[in-house]
Amino acid sequence: MSNAFTTDFLHPSPESQAAFRNRMSEAIAILLRDFASAGRPYSGAQPGELAQAFRQRPICPEQGVDMQELLDFVGTGILKHSAVVHHPACMAHLHCPPLQASVVAETLLSAANPSMDSWDQSMSATMVEQEVIKWLFGLFGYAGGEGDGVFTSGGTQSNFMGLLLARDHYCFERWGWNVQQQGLPPQSDRLRVLCSEAAHFTVRQSAAILGLGQQSVVAIPTDSHGQMRCDLLESAITRLKQDGLLPFALVATAGTTDFGSIDPLPELGDAARRHGLWLHTDAAYGGALALSDRHAGLLQGIALSDSITVDFHKLFYQPISCGAFLLRNRQHYRYLRLHADYLNPIEDDLAGVPNLVGKSIQTTRRFDALKLYMSLQHIGHERFAAMIDHTMQLAEETAELIKRTEELELAAEPTINAVVFRYVPSTGEGRADELNQRIRDRLLDGGIAVVARTKAGGKAFLKFTLLNPLATVRDTGDILRQIIRIGKELEQQIVTEQNARKGAST
Ligand SMILES: *Cc1c(COP(=O)(O)O)cnc(C)c1O
Repeated sequence: MSNAFTTDFLHPSPESQAAFRNRMSEAIAILLRDFASAGRPYSGAQPGELAQAFRQRPICPEQGVDMQELLDFVGTGILKHSAVVHHPACMAHLHCPPLQASVVAETLLSAANPSMDSWDQSMSATMVEQEVIKWLFGLFGYAGGEGDGVFTSGGTQSNFMGLLLARDHYCFERWGWNVQQQGLPPQSDRLRVLCSEAAHFTVRQSAAILGLGQQSVVAIPTDSHGQMRCDLLESAITRLKQDGLLPFALVATAGTTDFGSIDPLPELGDAARRHGLWLHTDAAYGGALALSDRHAGLLQGIALSDSITVDFHKLFYQPISCGAFLLRNRQHYRYLRLHADYLNPIEDDLAGVPNLVGKSIQTTRRFDALKLYMSLQHIGHERFAAMIDHTMQLAEETAELIKRTEELELAAEPTINAVVFRYVPSTGEGRADELNQRIRDRLLDGGIAVVARTKAGGKAFLKFTLLNPLATVRDTGDILRQIIRIGKELEQQIVTEQNARKGAST
């Protein structure tokens, strides 16, 4: 039963199983040595240095190399120069440390490798994914059991699906036009999507891919809390209609990327209903608040959405990639439906065989649902909520600390756990943008902290995205002190340079 390849795959033979056990334990040892034990959030290596290390190594040698040797290289050459996502000073993006339970699940699902497109490639996995989707419906308050959904690669794909179905639904309802068959209708250049000016760029990207052009996206201004202004939404809809344009979708954001702002969902739900718009809520970031008794209220009204985007590789602590698209009325999936004789023949539908390919724009698809399934079961609701609450409190305390610090300025009160602020130079506004940019570079290059940058009101800001439940206010306080120290040093340096130049020119 064994052949020359047996120990390269999982196989019933003792040699194969022993080989697998050894490889996995060596991999764990390297991971713990070169990644989990890192004392800094980044090694500080520059792109050029890293490129050099790989140039010397053949990608596909004639004879394979020993796993131990390979793992050693991967540990020292790759893992050691990664952003250390669990380090408290790694706080730039919506980039989370994955739960141990989810990493275990990731290994299992990769080994079993079901493909979610057809039932005959993913029997039990299909059932797990559908159960998790059902649970998500309950979590977001979708009642009635008419909904359906699917796991996706993340928010980009989920937002795209929302707008795709919104477009096709509108064209069908209004003109009896079948976009899937006929392509875009003649009136398509008049179609409009509304969202706030703080909505994620993938709304615009989706509109472009959907053949509507970025011109179809109408951005509504936000208020001082970063929330869409409902009064301006109403006047924009009126103006669009007067101009003969066709608003068909409204995108609400529950957790904007920079400030974590949440649009007024009940009001947007009401506006969507009155104006016959498809409401898509992008809760890629904020969706996890639904787990927290203390903060779920921020998502009130989300169940009014026709479709929802939620990401698990952000505040649900899952390895990339892992997200979902939820659809309130499963009938709307008909705009996506295609039948392939080899995958999901019509006879299967009639026989009730659950082939999930009809719910996704992906064909071969990962069993990412297992990660969330195992994480939820292992961690439990209470501890999951406690993690999220901890990060919310950390953001609040960090914002308080910034407000009390003379050298720093807070851009806005945090809604979720993103804190946007800047170093205020003692020498005035003149060089503030440049200085904040240079502070951020120094933190990264020195392996001190991985911090994000952004712009607000035309000014450069720094951003902490405090997703990490392991971080405390002592950690954020330490980094704030480093920011002030570096800011002062850089200011001093600028003054010295200016004096030197003055000296040289006189
Ligand atoms: C992250 C994010 C996206 C994009 O999602 P991906 O998972 O990166 O594809 C879309 N919208 C919002 C609000 C996000 O935070």
